[in-house]
Amino acid sequence: MKLISVLQAGQPVLAEIIDKDYRILEPSGGWPQTIQSLAENWVRFRNKQSVAGKSRPLTDICEFLAPVRQMEKVVCVGVNYADHAREMGGEPPEIPVIFNKFPSAIQAHRGAIRLPAITAQVDFEAELVVVIGKPGKKIARESAMDHVFGYCCGNDVTARDWQKNTPGGQWLRGKTFDTFAPIGPMVVTADEIDNPHNLAIESRVNGQVMQSSNTSNLIFPIDELISHLSLFVTLKPGDLIFTGTPPGVGAGRDPQVWLQPGDRVEVEIEGLGVLSNPVVTEPD
Ligand code: MN
Repeated sequence: MKLISVLQAGQPVLAEIIDKDYRILEPSGGWPQTIQSLAENWVRFRNKQSVAGKSRPLTDICEFLAPVRQMEKVVCVGVNYADHAREMGGEPPEIPVIFNKFPSAIQAHRGAIRLPAITAQVDFEAELVVVIGKPGKKIARESAMDHVFGYCCGNDVTARDWQKNTPGGQWLRGKTFDTFAPIGPMVVTADEIDNPHNLAIESRVNGQVMQSSNTSNLIFPIDELISHLSLFVTLKPGDLIFTGTPPGVGAGRDPQVWLQPGDRVEVEIEGLGVLSNPVVTEPD
Protein backbone atom coordinates (compact mmCIF):
# COMPACT_ATOMS: atom_id res chain seq x y z
CA MET A 1 0.00 0.00 0.00
CA LYS A 2 0.97 3.58 -0.60
CA LEU A 3 -0.31 5.46 2.42
CA ILE A 4 -0.86 9.16 2.98
CA SER A 5 -2.45 11.11 5.80
CA VAL A 6 -4.98 13.81 4.99
CA LEU A 7 -7.72 15.75 6.72
CA GLN A 8 -11.33 14.62 6.37
CA ALA A 9 -13.85 16.91 8.04
CA GLY A 10 -10.99 18.34 10.09
CA GLN A 11 -9.80 14.93 11.31
CA PRO A 12 -6.57 13.21 10.20
CA VAL A 13 -7.28 9.98 8.32
CA LEU A 14 -5.18 7.55 6.35
CA ALA A 15 -5.74 7.14 2.63
CA GLU A 16 -4.40 4.77 0.02
CA ILE A 17 -2.93 5.98 -3.26
CA ILE A 18 -4.02 4.05 -6.34
CA ASP A 19 -2.38 5.41 -9.49
CA LYS A 20 -3.25 9.10 -9.63
CA ASP A 21 -6.15 8.79 -7.20
CA TYR A 22 -6.57 8.27 -3.49
CA ARG A 23 -9.20 6.56 -1.39
CA ILE A 24 -9.84 7.28 2.28
CA LEU A 25 -9.45 4.24 4.54
CA GLU A 26 -12.80 4.89 6.14
CA PRO A 27 -12.87 4.97 9.93
CA SER A 28 -16.43 3.63 9.65
CA GLY A 29 -14.96 0.56 7.94
CA GLY A 30 -12.79 -0.10 10.99
CA TRP A 31 -9.59 1.20 9.44
CA PRO A 32 -6.95 2.54 11.84
CA GLN A 33 -6.28 6.26 11.51
CA THR A 34 -2.56 6.31 12.20
CA ILE A 35 0.39 4.40 10.77
CA GLN A 36 1.22 3.25 14.30
CA SER A 37 -2.20 1.68 14.72
CA LEU A 38 -2.23 0.22 11.21
CA ALA A 39 1.22 -1.28 11.81
CA GLU A 40 0.06 -2.85 15.07
CA ASN A 41 -2.89 -4.42 13.27
CA TRP A 42 -1.17 -5.08 9.96
CA VAL A 43 -1.88 -8.83 9.90
CA ARG A 44 -5.59 -8.05 9.99
CA PHE A 45 -5.54 -5.28 7.40
CA ARG A 46 -2.85 -6.17 4.89
CA ASN A 47 -5.20 -8.11 2.62
CA LYS A 48 -8.35 -6.15 3.33
CA GLN A 49 -9.89 -4.30 0.42
CA SER A 50 -9.41 -0.65 1.16
CA VAL A 51 -12.90 0.77 0.78
CA ALA A 52 -16.12 0.73 -1.04
CA GLY A 53 -15.91 4.51 -1.25
CA LYS A 54 -15.03 6.44 -4.33
CA SER A 55 -11.62 7.46 -5.56
CA ARG A 56 -10.66 11.09 -5.76
CA PRO A 57 -7.82 12.61 -7.75
CA LEU A 58 -4.65 13.32 -5.79
CA THR A 59 -4.71 16.83 -7.22
CA ASP A 60 -7.75 17.48 -5.00
CA ILE A 61 -5.61 17.31 -1.86
CA CYS A 62 -4.88 20.80 -0.62
CA GLU A 63 -3.00 19.74 2.51
CA PHE A 64 -0.85 16.68 3.14
CA LEU A 65 -0.11 15.75 6.73
CA ALA A 66 3.13 13.99 7.61
CA PRO A 67 2.32 10.30 7.02
CA VAL A 68 3.63 9.44 10.52
CA ARG A 69 3.25 11.78 13.47
CA GLN A 70 3.66 11.63 17.24
CA MET A 71 6.00 8.68 16.95
CA GLU A 72 8.02 7.79 20.01
CA LYS A 73 11.43 8.03 18.36
CA VAL A 74 13.13 9.64 15.37
CA VAL A 75 16.52 7.97 15.15
CA CYS A 76 19.10 9.15 12.62
CA VAL A 77 22.22 7.53 11.26
CA GLY A 78 25.17 9.80 10.46
CA VAL A 79 27.80 9.34 7.75
CA ASN A 80 26.29 6.17 6.33
CA TYR A 81 27.60 6.72 2.78
CA ALA A 82 31.39 6.43 2.49
CA ASP A 83 31.72 9.19 -0.10
CA HIS A 84 29.66 11.55 2.10
CA ALA A 85 31.98 10.77 5.03
CA ARG A 86 34.93 11.91 2.93
CA GLU A 87 33.24 15.08 1.66
CA MET A 88 32.67 16.04 5.31
CA GLY A 89 36.36 15.46 6.05
CA GLY A 90 36.16 12.10 7.83
CA GLU A 91 36.54 8.39 7.32
CA PRO A 92 33.69 5.88 7.24
CA PRO A 93 32.79 4.87 10.83
CA GLU A 94 33.36 1.37 12.21
CA ILE A 95 30.04 1.25 14.00
CA PRO A 96 26.95 3.31 13.11
CA VAL A 97 26.93 6.99 14.15
CA ILE A 98 23.59 7.50 15.91
CA PHE A 99 21.81 10.71 16.85
CA ASN A 100 18.20 11.80 17.00
CA LYS A 101 15.63 14.44 16.29
CA PHE A 102 12.59 15.13 18.43
CA PRO A 103 9.18 14.22 16.92
CA SER A 104 8.42 17.98 17.06
CA ALA A 105 10.80 18.43 14.10
CA ILE A 106 8.52 16.43 11.78
CA GLN A 107 7.11 18.40 8.84
CA ALA A 108 4.71 17.34 6.07
CA HIS A 109 5.13 17.22 2.31
CA ARG A 110 4.66 20.81 1.07
CA GLY A 111 5.08 22.17 4.61
CA ALA A 112 7.64 24.94 5.01
CA ILE A 113 11.16 24.42 6.31
CA ARG A 114 11.50 27.44 8.60
CA LEU A 115 14.91 29.07 8.86
CA PRO A 116 15.55 30.27 12.43
CA ALA A 117 17.30 33.65 12.85
CA ILE A 118 20.04 32.08 15.01
CA THR A 119 21.52 30.00 12.17
CA ALA A 120 22.97 31.01 8.81
CA GLN A 121 24.00 27.55 7.60
CA VAL A 122 20.94 25.40 7.01
CA ASP A 123 21.64 22.38 4.83
CA PHE A 124 19.59 19.61 3.18
CA GLU A 125 20.14 15.82 3.38
CA ALA A 126 18.11 13.41 1.24
CA GLU A 127 17.53 10.18 3.17
CA LEU A 128 15.69 6.89 2.94
CA VAL A 129 13.52 6.67 6.06
CA VAL A 130 12.52 3.32 7.55
CA VAL A 131 9.18 3.12 9.38
CA ILE A 132 9.14 0.46 12.09
CA GLY A 133 6.12 -1.86 12.31
CA LYS A 134 6.62 -4.83 14.60
CA PRO A 135 8.12 -3.80 17.94
CA GLY A 136 11.27 -5.42 19.26
CA LYS A 137 14.37 -5.37 21.46
CA LYS A 138 17.65 -7.21 20.76
CA ILE A 139 16.46 -8.06 17.27
CA ALA A 140 18.58 -10.59 15.39
CA ARG A 141 19.90 -9.35 12.07
CA GLU A 142 18.33 -12.36 10.32
CA SER A 143 14.80 -11.31 11.33
CA ALA A 144 15.35 -7.53 11.38
CA MET A 145 13.57 -6.83 8.09
CA ASP A 146 10.37 -8.37 9.55
CA HIS A 147 10.24 -5.25 11.76
CA VAL A 148 10.02 -2.84 8.82
CA PHE A 149 6.52 -1.54 8.13
CA GLY A 150 7.50 0.63 5.19
CA TYR A 151 9.62 3.40 3.73
CA CYS A 152 9.39 7.07 2.88
CA CYS A 153 11.51 9.97 1.70
CA GLY A 154 13.02 12.19 4.37
CA ASN A 155 15.10 15.34 4.58
CA ASP A 156 17.53 15.50 7.52
CA VAL A 157 17.61 19.30 7.54
CA THR A 158 20.66 20.47 9.49
CA ALA A 159 21.98 23.78 10.84
CA ARG A 160 25.70 23.11 10.34
CA ASP A 161 26.79 25.98 12.58
CA TRP A 162 24.86 24.43 15.48
CA GLN A 163 25.80 20.87 14.56
CA LYS A 164 29.54 21.49 14.42
CA ASN A 165 30.27 24.35 16.77
CA THR A 166 28.42 23.38 19.91
CA PRO A 167 30.17 22.00 23.00
CA GLY A 168 30.72 18.30 23.41
CA GLY A 169 30.39 17.42 19.75
CA GLN A 170 26.65 16.99 20.20
CA TRP A 171 24.61 17.25 17.02
CA LEU A 172 21.15 17.44 18.53
CA ARG A 173 20.57 21.21 18.48
CA GLY A 174 21.58 21.60 14.84
CA LYS A 175 19.38 18.68 13.82
CA THR A 176 16.14 19.22 15.68
CA PHE A 177 14.87 22.74 15.07
CA ASP A 178 11.12 22.71 14.39
CA THR A 179 10.37 21.62 10.77
CA PHE A 180 13.86 20.09 10.30
CA ALA A 181 12.48 16.59 9.63
CA PRO A 182 10.21 16.67 6.57
CA ILE A 183 8.91 13.20 5.63
CA GLY A 184 6.56 11.99 2.92
CA PRO A 185 4.62 12.43 0.79
CA MET A 186 3.65 8.79 1.45
CA VAL A 187 4.73 5.66 3.28
CA VAL A 188 5.09 2.68 0.94
CA THR A 189 4.68 -0.63 2.76
CA ALA A 190 7.64 -3.01 2.70
CA ASP A 191 5.89 -5.63 0.57
CA GLU A 192 5.89 -3.16 -2.36
CA ILE A 193 9.64 -2.47 -2.27
CA ASP A 194 11.60 -5.36 -3.81
CA ASN A 195 15.00 -4.22 -2.58
CA PRO A 196 15.36 -1.17 -0.33
CA HIS A 197 19.12 -1.38 -0.90
CA ASN A 198 18.82 -0.60 -4.58
CA LEU A 199 16.83 2.64 -4.85
CA ALA A 200 17.89 5.78 -6.69
CA ILE A 201 17.99 8.74 -4.28
CA GLU A 202 18.24 12.38 -5.26
CA SER A 203 17.87 15.87 -3.83
CA ARG A 204 17.20 19.04 -5.77
CA VAL A 205 17.23 22.70 -4.75
CA ASN A 206 15.16 24.91 -7.04
CA GLY A 207 15.20 22.10 -9.60
CA GLN A 208 18.99 21.72 -9.63
CA VAL A 209 20.24 18.24 -8.75
CA MET A 210 22.46 18.42 -5.65
CA GLN A 211 22.66 14.78 -4.52
CA SER A 212 22.30 11.76 -6.77
CA SER A 213 23.13 8.29 -5.52
CA ASN A 214 21.67 4.89 -4.73
CA THR A 215 20.84 3.20 -1.44
CA SER A 216 23.15 0.37 -2.56
CA ASN A 217 25.92 2.66 -1.24
CA LEU A 218 24.75 2.48 2.40
CA ILE A 219 27.66 1.47 4.67
CA PHE A 220 25.40 -0.10 7.29
CA PRO A 221 22.33 -1.75 5.70
CA ILE A 222 18.88 -1.56 7.23
CA ASP A 223 18.93 -4.99 8.91
CA GLU A 224 22.20 -4.17 10.64
CA LEU A 225 20.90 -0.75 11.76
CA ILE A 226 17.74 -2.27 13.26
CA SER A 227 19.67 -5.01 15.01
CA HIS A 228 22.23 -2.51 16.38
CA LEU A 229 19.68 0.09 17.53
CA SER A 230 17.57 -2.55 19.26
CA LEU A 231 20.51 -3.38 21.53
CA PHE A 232 19.84 -0.02 23.19
CA VAL A 233 16.16 0.81 22.74
CA THR A 234 12.91 -1.00 22.15
CA LEU A 235 11.80 -0.14 18.65
CA LYS A 236 8.09 0.66 18.46
CA PRO A 237 5.51 0.92 15.65
CA GLY A 238 5.86 4.29 13.94
CA ASP A 239 9.45 4.88 15.04
CA LEU A 240 11.53 6.31 12.22
CA ILE A 241 15.11 5.60 11.20
CA PHE A 242 16.72 8.18 8.92
CA THR A 243 19.38 6.01 7.27
CA GLY A 244 21.92 8.66 6.25
CA THR A 245 22.64 10.87 3.26
CA PRO A 246 24.78 10.55 0.11
CA PRO A 247 27.33 13.17 -1.05
CA GLY A 248 26.41 16.54 -2.48
CA VAL A 249 25.10 18.34 0.62
CA GLY A 250 25.55 22.10 0.76
CA ALA A 251 28.35 21.93 3.36
CA GLY A 252 30.45 19.68 1.14
CA ARG A 253 30.27 21.91 -1.94
CA ASP A 254 32.68 24.59 -3.14
CA PRO A 255 31.37 27.19 -2.67
CA GLN A 256 29.12 25.97 0.12
CA VAL A 257 25.36 26.23 -0.41
CA TRP A 258 22.93 27.15 2.37
CA LEU A 259 19.16 27.15 2.09
CA GLN A 260 17.60 30.58 1.57
CA PRO A 261 14.05 31.89 1.95
CA GLY A 262 12.19 31.26 -1.30
CA ASP A 263 14.08 28.04 -2.10
CA ARG A 264 12.31 24.76 -2.77
CA VAL A 265 13.95 21.49 -1.71
CA GLU A 266 12.93 18.15 -3.18
CA VAL A 267 13.92 14.65 -2.14
CA GLU A 268 13.07 11.88 -4.59
CA ILE A 269 13.57 8.17 -3.97
CA GLU A 270 12.72 5.52 -6.52
CA GLY A 271 9.25 4.14 -5.78
CA LEU A 272 8.64 6.52 -2.85
CA GLY A 273 7.64 9.70 -4.67
CA VAL A 274 8.88 13.25 -4.32
CA LEU A 275 9.00 15.11 -0.99
CA SER A 276 8.85 18.83 -1.74
CA ASN A 277 9.24 21.65 0.80
CA PRO A 278 9.44 25.41 0.43
CA VAL A 279 11.93 27.30 2.59
CA VAL A 280 10.83 30.38 4.54
CA THR A 281 12.15 32.63 7.30
CA GLU A 282 10.86 31.55 10.69
CA PRO A 283 8.48 34.23 11.99
CA ASP A 284 9.49 35.92 15.28
MN1 MN B 1 21.65 12.80 7.98
